[in-house]
Amino acid sequence: MSAEKSIFQKIIDRELPADILYEDDLVIAIKDINPQAPIHLLIVPKRKIAKIADTSLADITLLGHMIGTARTLMQQQNMDDYRLVFNNGEKAGQTVFHIHLHVLAGRSFSWPLG
Ligand code: 5GP
Repeated sequence: MSAEKSIFQKIIDRELPADILYEDDLVIAIKDINPQAPIHLLIVPKRKIAKIADTSLADITLLGHMIGTARTLMQQQNMDDYRLVFNNGEKAGQTVFHIHLHVLAGRSFSWPLG
């Protein structure tokens, strides 16, 4: 783990402001600062892992909890249709190297991706 705090660690530590929708011992859920859909949340683990590629079997519970948190938040907002995205690596669009699950909803999404 690098010594420098990620943007998300600063939000978790309340050193940067954010719209926090949910928090527990393992994760925080915030609104994306640059939303790509009417609803665009980020589910972020409190423990920094830079990339999905850096996770291991030991992280399965955490990863499942991130997806479960997304499901619960969408249920609470009566959203049946949503997209969950992990970007892994720069070419895949990852810009913040502290894993996060994008939760996008409120509009139609095309497939395949560009
Ligand atoms: P990535 O491109 O790494 O998959 O996603 C990073 C996401 O973090 C982007 O959607 C970006 O808008 C969001 N983001 C970057 N900086 C901040 C910030 O300071 N606050 C919040 N709430 N979101 C941020």
